[in-house]
Amino acid sequence: MKRVLSGIQPTGEIHIGNYLGAIKQWVELGERLGKEAFFCIVDYHALTNPAAYDKDLLAQRTFEAALVNIAAGLDPEKVTLFVQSHVPEHTELSWVFTTLTPLGDLTRMTQFKDKAAKLGSNELIGAGLLMYPVLQAADILIYKADTVPVGEDQLQHLELTREIARRFNGLFGETFPEPQAFLNPEAPRVPGIDGRAKMSKSLGNTIGLLEDERSIWEKIRHLPDDPQRIRLSDPGDPDRTVVFTYLSYFAPKELVEALKEEYRRAGVGTLVVKEILFEQMMRALRPIRERAEALRKDPGYVMDALLEGARRARTVAAATMEEVREKVGLLRPG
Ligand code: ATP
Ligand code: MG
Repeated sequence: MKRVLSGIQPTGEIHIGNYLGAIKQWVELGERLGKEAFFCIVDYHALTNPAAYDKDLLAQRTFEAALVNIAAGLDPEKVTLFVQSHVPEHTELSWVFTTLTPLGDLTRMTQFKDKAAKLGSNELIGAGLLMYPVLQAADILIYKADTVPVGEDQLQHLELTREIARRFNGLFGETFPEPQAFLNPEAPRVPGIDGRAKMSKSLGNTIGLLEDERSIWEKIRHLPDDPQRIRLSDPGDPDRTVVFTYLSYFAPKELVEALKEEYRRAGVGTLVVKEILFEQMMRALRPIRERAEALRKDPGYVMDALLEGARRARTVAAATMEEVREKVGLLRPG
């Protein structure tokens, strides 16, 4: 592993799925790799989904995403944390990749199909939503990153990134690595509070990292129980409940196992398990929430970190883009 890149969209409140599936890994990899770790708030991506994009909120959400990442443990003095639109080479490279990508590869992407279905008619589906994975390939390959810490939902896009890299290398000579995903084996796909769909900013089924404590409790209190457990005296199957899935992310293994055992014997009510889940979750999130509060008092620190990150990222991105321009045969000055 030489270089890491990952990104998050400023499409809404960052949630425990983003944290467990992606950001937590970013922090660990960042500790190991320092300046070779690139983390990007992908604001141009956020423009692709009209259901989540709001012109009046985009800048604030971009800033907030950076703040949450720093609060969650990313140290901008060690890693390169920046905003996608501050490094225009991403969009420039994505155009070259667009010309190499068959339309059929894009229309079969699950994320496109899901998000397009919610928008309904073709008149409402922007071409940007279709091109999303091409821009994502450019985000990764402009840094020649070989490792991409993401949630399971991004595996298909990463496969396409590898195909784009292979196609470019085949046509123009060896240039890009074929990057591999890096999943958190304990939380590759965090379910939403409905217990079924993937937790997603744009689905409104989230528990926010910085969400109000009472609001988190209300969401936990209403989490669905094992549907086959009707009376308190019925034995339950913990593996059928999102309550236990969440508990496994935040509580020590022995405690989870002990509670599962009791739940199977109908020895413990779901409300008690929910109270324990709430306690354990808040204990894990509290340091992040406290750091976020402190950072809010020093917004200049966050902004300066992003500008310094963009400056560093641009040095690398500009060099790759120049190599690409030469390889594809564009007229160069001099
Ligand atoms: P949106 O609904 O706008 O697509 P999102 O919640 O899916 O938002 P993204 O910004 O698209 O978040 O993804 C940021 C990172 O978080 C990606 O690496 C993605 O794989 C990961 N991620 C998102 N949701 C989950 C989840 N439920 N479980 C694990 N990882 C997730
Ligand atoms: Mg997403």
